[in-house]
Amino acid sequence: MKTLKLLDKKGTFRLGISGISLIAAAGAFSMICLEMPGDRNGVHQESDAKLAQMLQQDVFYLSETVGQRGFHAYKGLKKAENYIESEMKKSGYAVKRNDYKVKAAEIGKEYLKLGFSPEQVFSNIYVEVKGTEKPDEYIVVGAHYDSVCVSNCKGADDNASGVAATLALARHFTDKPQKCSLIFVAFANEEPPFFHTETMGSMVFARMLKKENRKIRGMIAFDTIGYYSDEPGSQNYPPPLDQYYPNKGNFIAFVSNMSSIDFLRDCIGTFRKNSALPSEGTAVPSFIPGSDWSDHWSFAKLGWNAVMVSNTALYRTPYYHSSQDTWEKLDYRRMALLTDGMKKIIGKIAD
Ligand SMILES: [Zn+2]
Repeated sequence: MKTLKLLDKKGTFRLGISGISLIAAAGAFSMICLEMPGDRNGVHQESDAKLAQMLQQDVFYLSETVGQRGFHAYKGLKKAENYIESEMKKSGYAVKRNDYKVKAAEIGKEYLKLGFSPEQVFSNIYVEVKGTEKPDEYIVVGAHYDSVCVSNCKGADDNASGVAATLALARHFTDKPQKCSLIFVAFANEEPPFFHTETMGSMVFARMLKKENRKIRGMIAFDTIGYYSDEPGSQNYPPPLDQYYPNKGNFIAFVSNMSSIDFLRDCIGTFRKNSALPSEGTAVPSFIPGSDWSDHWSFAKLGWNAVMVSNTALYRTPYYHSSQDTWEKLDYRRMALLTDGMKKIIGKIAD
């Protein structure tokens, strides 16, 4: 065992300084990244039972009737696409598709063994509501509809829940145009091996918008929003966030990178004035894992404001990326509170 050398005066002094700078850094971190407007507990509001029912129907269809959906379960993926398209059509939209091809060589030939064919076509499915005053500016709201390539993982929380919220908001806004234009989109290929690559559905879609010279005010990605728990100890965090946040997994998280912090504050501030679902918000420096683990990554990468809305996935749910991620574990009452609050956010940021 090593014996510790006693520090001389200089050493003690240096240690003191670095201690102070650590405390100062922690203080600055909590002030800049974690300070969010409003009360995390929100306001009193009843959950809309009809909306909860609709969210449950969509989650059930995508996760049980369809089940696995992805490059590894291509028929399921196509079935999910058809469902999303027909639900959007029912709401009166002219549905658009952003189709793209991926070759096995682009993702690695080992995926041929997992069900990838030499070339597959994937689709981002989207609709638009034209703005009344600033039609050339856009708010994008989306969620990925593929499920992870894990044996019998039906992806109810990850991410049929996010698609259900996106569909509910598309239904709501179909006859309620805002000042700027809205895009509601279901993305292909968020999960590996596409994750954080040029073949990720949201990246293909964001690049298309860039090419079309669209002015994106901000993007909101739903990912894994259905699982909640009131048990103490049910919530974990990547350090150092565990120092700052509660240990009950009963809230929804709004997460962005540092450059989207004003947009993030605008979203969560509005949410807290309108929803009874507790919420936490963080603008996360890039060294903390998990903050860019969804489709908002693609939009942030192209320089746009982007926020992820999530129950924090693997930091909360024990069923993450497993065959246990099934529809009956989700809390549709809380999902309805979330979706209702999102209507107010969209109204505010599209003003
Ligand atoms: Zn996932």
